[in-house]
Amino acid sequence: MYCPNCGKEIDDRAVVCVHCGVAVKQIGTMNADTDGPIGCLLGGACFLVPLLGLILYLVWNSTMPMKAKEAGKWALIGFIVSIVFYVIYIAAIGSAAMAYY
Ligand SMILES: [Zn+2]
Repeated sequence: MYCPNCGKEIDDRAVVCVHCGVAVKQIGTMNADTDGPIGCLLGGACFLVPLLGLILYLVWNSTMPMKAKEAGKWALIGFIVSIVFYVIYIAAIGSAAMAYY
């Protein structure tokens, strides 16, 4: 890889650049940080559209397992809630029909 500070080629496992002394390990840590909480907005999107959460889960599964897990979790919650609402809806229709007859 190349040093992000001076641009010289350094060892892939180097923690500090041998040319300028800048810590290059930070780049790896920053990349690892991209795998984390997906945030309220994306979590809400997965909750409202479980299919989106499922797709994100499959896309992220290999590269960002933490994000994938969270997206999958919200998708599952959204899916369960939609089924619960559907059952309540059917029950309401049923009771309304019963009251009519
Ligand atoms: Zn350097």
